[in-house]
Amino acid sequence: MTSFGIPYWWQDGAELPDLPEIPPQKTDIAIIGAGYTGLSAAITARRAGADVTVIDAIIPGQGASSRNGGMFGAHTRISISAMTRSFGRDAAVVLLNEAPEAYAFTRALIEAESIACDFQPTGRIVLASSRKAHAEQVTLAADLKALTGYELAVVSRDRLGEHINSDVYAGGIYYEDHGALQPRKFHDELMRIALREGVHVVQNCPVLAIEGVRGAFVLRSKGGDIRSENVIHATNGYTRKPFNWLARRVFPLPSFIIATEELPPDLLARLAPGRRMMVETRAKHSYYRISPDGRRIVFGGRAGMVPYGPDLAAKRLKATMVGIWPDLADVKISHSWRGYTGFAFEQMPNVGQHQGQYFALGYSGSGVAMAPYLGMKVAYQALGDKRGETAYSLTTPTTRLYHPGGHPWFLAAGELWYRQVVDLLENFQARR
Ligand SMILES: Cc1cc2nc3c(=O)[nH]c(=O)nc-3n(C[C@H](O)[C@H](O)[C@H](O)COP(=O)(O)OP(=O)(O)OC[C@H]3O[C@@H](n4cnc5c(N)ncnc54)[C@H](O)[C@@H]3O)c2cc1C
Repeated sequence: MTSFGIPYWWQDGAELPDLPEIPPQKTDIAIIGAGYTGLSAAITARRAGADVTVIDAIIPGQGASSRNGGMFGAHTRISISAMTRSFGRDAAVVLLNEAPEAYAFTRALIEAESIACDFQPTGRIVLASSRKAHAEQVTLAADLKALTGYELAVVSRDRLGEHINSDVYAGGIYYEDHGALQPRKFHDELMRIALREGVHVVQNCPVLAIEGVRGAFVLRSKGGDIRSENVIHATNGYTRKPFNWLARRVFPLPSFIIATEELPPDLLARLAPGRRMMVETRAKHSYYRISPDGRRIVFGGRAGMVPYGPDLAAKRLKATMVGIWPDLADVKISHSWRGYTGFAFEQMPNVGQHQGQYFALGYSGSGVAMAPYLGMKVAYQALGDKRGETAYSLTTPTTRLYHPGGHPWFLAAGELWYRQVVDLLENFQARR
């Protein structure tokens, strides 16, 4: 069966809860966005005794939180030197040291709440697309060990076959403690816990404006007004006008995924003997894995920086996949979908406040472990609880003159730049 436009994960989720579309008139904390961040913030604040309402513009979870690749880990996406340039050396060190806490928090949540989300301790291999990229990986592993004590295994080209059977990579680094989950099931379970705790969740109810000050906000929503002492924005890649201050700092970058038809187990065992989460170093990198039932390849990447339709995206992603595994030239693609990642210009998430309104966003494509953690942090910050302290408040996002808000037109220019320059350069380096 071919399901283009519908995530593979949705065929295997719980029945959606019957949620209201009209918010209560009053609440202590109003949270905008019911993905992983919003639900985790809601559970934390509710357990701290607050009356909490989460409001989503669509069906909760149908933002990124049930569309992603399900790769679970809290490593930073950018190099230590990039982090130092953006935030300073001291901040980089505390950020690197806090990342394992984020991972441990979400792992512990899954275990403590018996969250049934097909979690698998697969490990993650980051695959170097050139010898230069692999040399940078070696440096990263040494620096990380020196700064934090975290042991990252460097995998030379001749040992890659234990993880993946492909000729295109020059080596890798291996995060042994990373894992994989089924993203839709993870969201279903967070929703179950939030509802059980007595959080009000409202769907199909976009928040259109916010007036007032901390302690006395009024949210104007499609379903009516809601008075709230506190507001948390948990809208990540779906942050739009009128919340322009945030929208100028976190822009929607589409990410695309395909799933193959069911494949013979011996073929999968040969292509990906490690059954790892597999991610590339390329700027427009691919990320891919075996499905939880062990029967398909789920293959994601930036088929483009603008929202191409599922047919074109599937064609491009399949071509990339076949470049890695030529044996897949004749397989059929059963699903093709996309979602929006919330990219900060610094590529780091942030927890903060602006004009008394709190936010946690900017995961820049890596939020499965981080979003529940920073959801917890932002809830404590909004409540004035010391447990909200986090190094991720040091990553204040900035904007650019070329992004005055509204539509991120510069992504079309970025698409050209990557296609015409960066891709060609990386292909050239890969051959050396
Ligand atoms: C295709 C894809 C693949 C990914 N793969 C991975 C991966 O493998 N590993 C990983 O770690 N991360 C991955 N990510 C990133 C990860 O999914 C996100 O970081 C995470 O889901 C963010 O959760 P969130 O709750 O902050 O935002 P979302 O889940 O996006 O939720 C935001 C919500 O805000 C709502 N909203 C926006 N504006 C309003 C408004 N005005 N009023 C009411 N509601 C509003 C939206 O409707 C939406 O439901 C991927 C993302 C995508 C798109």
